[in-house]
Amino acid sequence: MKENRINPSESDILIVDDKPDNIRILSSLLKEQGYKVRQALSGEMAMMAARAAQPDLILLDIMMPGLDGYQVCQLLKQDATTAAIPVIFLSALDDILDKVKAFSVGGADYITKPFHVLEVLVRVENQLALKAANQQIRQLNHQLEERVQERTRQLEIANTKLLEMALHDPLTGLPNRALFMERVLGEIARSHQEDGYQFVVMFLDCDRFKVINDSLGHIVGDQLLVAIARRLQEHMDKKDTLARLGGDEFAILLPAVENIHQATRVAQNMIDALCYPFQLERHEVFINASIGIAPSCADYSKPEHLLRDADTAMYRAKNSGRACYHIFDRAMHDAAVALLELENDLRRAVEREEFILHYQPIVDLALGRISGFEALVRWQHPQRGMVSPASFIPVAEETGLIVPIGNWVMRQACHQLRLWQEQKLATVDFGMGVNLSVRQFSQPNLIAEIDEVLQKNQLNPQNLKLEITETAIMDNPRHASQLLLQLRSRQIQLAIDDFGTGYSSLSYLHSFPVDILKVDRSFVKGLQGNQENLGLVVAIINIARTMGMTVVAEGIETEDQLWCLRDLECGFGQGYLFSKPLDAQTAGALIAANPRW
Ligand code: C2E
Ligand code: MG
Ligand code: MG
Repeated sequence: MKENRINPSESDILIVDDKPDNIRILSSLLKEQGYKVRQALSGEMAMMAARAAQPDLILLDIMMPGLDGYQVCQLLKQDATTAAIPVIFLSALDDILDKVKAFSVGGADYITKPFHVLEVLVRVENQLALKAANQQIRQLNHQLEERVQERTRQLEIANTKLLEMALHDPLTGLPNRALFMERVLGEIARSHQEDGYQFVVMFLDCDRFKVINDSLGHIVGDQLLVAIARRLQEHMDKKDTLARLGGDEFAILLPAVENIHQATRVAQNMIDALCYPFQLERHEVFINASIGIAPSCADYSKPEHLLRDADTAMYRAKNSGRACYHIFDRAMHDAAVALLELENDLRRAVEREEFILHYQPIVDLALGRISGFEALVRWQHPQRGMVSPASFIPVAEETGLIVPIGNWVMRQACHQLRLWQEQKLATVDFGMGVNLSVRQFSQPNLIAEIDEVLQKNQLNPQNLKLEITETAIMDNPRHASQLLLQLRSRQIQLAIDDFGTGYSSLSYLHSFPVDILKVDRSFVKGLQGNQENLGLVVAIINIARTMGMTVVAEGIETEDQLWCLRDLECGFGQGYLFSKPLDAQTAGALIAANPRW
């Protein structure tokens, strides 16, 4: 703090004494020092002077007729405008009691007459310096207080902003997941308190949004999200909440809903609203949305569960053709739970190797003899018994579990073929068909795995026939053609499974090195010796022949079908007519029996 040097010319001193001589002496002494001096000859005058303009200091005689010094001091201290003025008492009475009284009525200091000049000046200067210091402290305090207030205000603003940021999506400004969940929680509480109170949670997901992001870029994608948010908001009440959960996912909370129709109306309005194109910069963009609706019910205690069920219903909506809504029901929940259980069971099954292979013969139709087998996986579920691949392969595919399962199948099937060769059951050209799923087909280390298995079992690659579907090729044609060339260079045979059910495009065939077409059994089913029904099978067999491919007809169940296929000179066949898929031992026995058809 800077030193408080007094500038006398700025200090106004009031001298109060009923004796003019005293006043004169003091006045001239102080004026000499440069102080401004006023004078009062009585207590009453002193009060008037002090109130009219507050002096910086009062030198106050005690003994005066009328108001004496003590009374004047008391009056000054009682008045807020004059209370801060320091008072130095002047008295000839050098009595201890008087001094005490002087301080008790608010006096700041005490000078006894006759004065010592230097003492007067020092005491005056001290009081003025004290007063100045006090004033400075008050000013500083005031500034400090102002600063604290300003900082508090800024902090409050920052806090509000932080809270706003923590609860809102920065792109659209909509409430985010956290705020949405909080509001749903509030609604759950209300529905538990008020009988019959209902609300609805909806989950909205844009169809094909990724395509727009990928083709037009993220900036346009972001603009589109903002535009979607605005448009959706137009179809909502003030009391409703529209939140962005992330990506192209939005959630809607409709409180106080009378009935489900009210919610479906909102959902339909939103779907309709999104049908109109969005004009973004130079692009006209079309987008659809699928909506899942979860109505409240007493069972819900957690907001996540409502959102989860709305999400499940949204997926159902997407699967049933997009741009529509679906209402969640119990059966969907059960199906979702069952799927989850299946997935968990399947994970465990992989660890415990609960799988087994069955083998179905593939018959050379000209010779009527077994030419090889197709390996078909089964799951020996500890509770559910034998589970067919149709009910677990899709889940395995979706979860990626198909990769370890598929590897196991490949190892097991090759090992079995090796055993049959060692037992002299399988001839050198005996084939083993192994199914490859789409996911396996795109595994980067597939070829390495196959090489290792063939090597380990000392198999001729020509004996291995990999069965893939058209989808595996068409999902990523460039990758497929590279992979197929690698397989071809090893002379591993490649079969297109369920041919005719996928892309049904014969045109792509010649660009891929395929060895075998397995005609789907839905085509074989129609064969009853009636020439008109032969249609596609004839075409497929002819095309395969001109392209040097072999044909295997799947699902042969009747003699009629067999004769018909023989007539058409179809090379190979597979089906219940010959044999159902058999466990390894029974299949081995079948080879040994060397049946003829
Ligand atoms: P797929 O590869 O087309 O196998 C032929 C399916 O048709 C087998 O069903 C077989 O039992 C059945 N089948 C054979 N002959 C007849 C018949 O005369 N009539 C009828 N109605 N059906 C017949 P499965 O074993 O239930 O396998 C179903 C599908 O599961 C297979 O179709 C294949 O796509 C898949 N799959 C089986 N094992 C594996 C595997 O190890 N890996 C992969 N990725 N998929 C597999
Ligand atoms: Mg197959
Ligand atoms: Mg098939």
